[in-house]
Amino acid sequence: YTQAKALIYSKYGEPKDVLSLHKHSISAPHGTQVNLRLLTAPMNPADVNQIQGVYPSKPPFSTSLGTSEPAAVGGNEGAFEVISTGASVTTLSKGDWVIMKRTGQGTWRTHAQLDESQLIRIENKDGLTPLQVGTVSVNPVTAYRMIRDFCEWDWMRAGEEWLIQNGANSGVGRAAIQLCREWGIKSLNVVRGRKTPEETEALKQELKDLGATVVVTEDEMLTGGFRDMVHEITRHGREPIRLALNCVGGKNATALAKTLAPDSHMVTYGAMSRQPVALPSGLLIFKNLSFDGFWVSKWGDKNPVLKENTIKDVLQLTRSGRFKDIPVDNVEWKWDAEGPQLAESVQGTLGGYRSGKGVFTF
Ligand code: NDP
Repeated sequence: YTQAKALIYSKYGEPKDVLSLHKHSISAPHGTQVNLRLLTAPMNPADVNQIQGVYPSKPPFSTSLGTSEPAAVGGNEGAFEVISTGASVTTLSKGDWVIMKRTGQGTWRTHAQLDESQLIRIENKDGLTPLQVGTVSVNPVTAYRMIRDFCEWDWMRAGEEWLIQNGANSGVGRAAIQLCREWGIKSLNVVRGRKTPEETEALKQELKDLGATVVVTEDEMLTGGFRDMVHEITRHGREPIRLALNCVGGKNATALAKTLAPDSHMVTYGAMSRQPVALPSGLLIFKNLSFDGFWVSKWGDKNPVLKENTIKDVLQLTRSGRFKDIPVDNVEWKWDAEGPQLAESVQGTLGGYRSGKGVFTF
């Protein structure tokens, strides 16, 4: 038996109110079962929405971990190490690093027992860190697919076309910046201003260091002068803005859409401001813009092979030093960590203006 602890919830609500630590034991794996130890699991915004009960995919509540009430384990993404395998396991062995094939399996746990078929083995983990592996399957895959699948690649002229995005300092945004740099797309990035001009400048510089072509604040975008600036950087439209990635919604999203060249796409993947996306009709009628949404969970379930290949591609860039780590706020999950303390670190996830994404490391 392996002793294990999991951060679980048996009703929806705020993480600090509903998450609790549950201790249980895991039997030796048999058949195609695999026993795992947590390396790193991030706290993504969707994880919190899921616990609040406002996210469309809800993990099933069950008593399989021996809880008195049916419960689900929090978290959707993470890197785990294989500690033992059942006799029929063929693709994994002790010491391998794995990630979950699908979301909704519950990753905020020190140990887990899953079936081999639910796991993706990381080939060639050398040169990779648990953080890189544990955060690859959601944010970078989302950025990658939105750029690849909503751009008219036949038309694209490397170095002469633009992408615009808000939430540019998010995990997805940082991935998009670096992929644009790799793929010869210029990026116009919108972030929220920080408390002081110095901090705002430091954030802009951080994103430029990742490869952002231009970084502006939301206020700069929403006040006069932005239109002229866009004209100037795009050489009066000769370098068209072909794709907008919308993480925020509200006025911010409207402003992004207005910069797009005719026949371009805006892909909405987040709603951080919780404001609806409002669109001037002219953008639809005269500019023939397309407005799409993207959800990586659904996409990944439909395209499992492409998802694995996308992950491999990003990890290859990571190994070669061309894909940088996101800033993190590391929460070390020691064996005797208290439940309320772990739950409190989840609670901060949607707070905004954070120095980094919360991640559990065990
Ligand atoms: P991170 O946790 O890395 O970053 C959060 C981002 O949201 C920061 O840029 C932050 O900016 C911004 N933000 C927070 N609060 C607000 C607010 N009130 N108004 C405007 N911006 C705000 O996020 P992720 O990259 O993990 O996720 C970003 C978004 O993308 C989330 O909504 C998430 O659910 C969604 N997402 C969707 C996917 C999909 O498949 N559709 C897949 C992956 C993510 P600041 O620093 O200024 O606070």
